[in-house]
Amino acid sequence: MLEIAQFVCLSDNYGYLVHDPETGSTASIDAPDAEPINAELDRRGWSLTHVLVTHHHFDHTAGNEALKEKWSCEIVGSRSDRSRIPAIEKKVEHGELFKFGGYDVEVIEVSGHTVGHIAYFFKEDKHAFVGDTLFALGCGRLFEGSAEQMWQSLSRLCELPDDTLIYCGHEYTESNATFAMTIEPENELLVKRVDEITALRSKNQPTVPSYLGLEKKTNPFLRPHVREIQRVLSMEGCDVIDVFSEIRKRKDNF
Ligand code: ZN
Ligand code: FE
Repeated sequence: MLEIAQFVCLSDNYGYLVHDPETGSTASIDAPDAEPINAELDRRGWSLTHVLVTHHHFDHTAGNEALKEKWSCEIVGSRSDRSRIPAIEKKVEHGELFKFGGYDVEVIEVSGHTVGHIAYFFKEDKHAFVGDTLFALGCGRLFEGSAEQMWQSLSRLCELPDDTLIYCGHEYTESNATFAMTIEPENELLVKRVDEITALRSKNQPTVPSYLGLEKKTNPFLRPHVREIQRVLSMEGCDVIDVFSEIRKRKDNF
């Protein structure tokens, strides 16, 4: 089984290290900041072999060059976004499978937050690293892509098994939860989840990762087809993409 180390980087980014104990391969998912990543590697006695970049934003790539310099690790990123990813070496694209140690990793294109954003799905252990696409109870802002693109990306992620663990790029869950309650206040599972999130955050504990199955039942951005949500938005019978787009707009102004 893969081992995962999770720690805070910058103010609200998550750093993740994925380690294969058999081969010693260790990947950093994104590189928000080299210093806490190196500290975690030291603490665990692991050597960095890869950086798997989800998208080009600075808070996901700022440490690429320093990590490559120190570890001679391979920087992996989206082929279509290669010009914006510092120190990229291996370029990958949607549908591609590559080996990480003894494990298969599938590349899933999830454009919307940025164009060329990708997610990494570790197939055997069902870990999905989704960057700033699908958050716990939220979704990424549409900086470059359209609502339609983001909806297509989220729909792709929803095809993964329900017991997939979703690791997102930021701890935004508490504010996402407050917003989610305005969209589907009578979803009992959501109400229960919000209580759990409040309790975790009051102890400064992470709310990430979360199971995809739970996101599907509670995350408003995965539920534009739900009649009760359409009713709250006065959009009964509307196109799912239009409903999704409205939820995203409301969150932008929340
Ligand atoms: Zn971003
Ligand atoms: Fe980010």
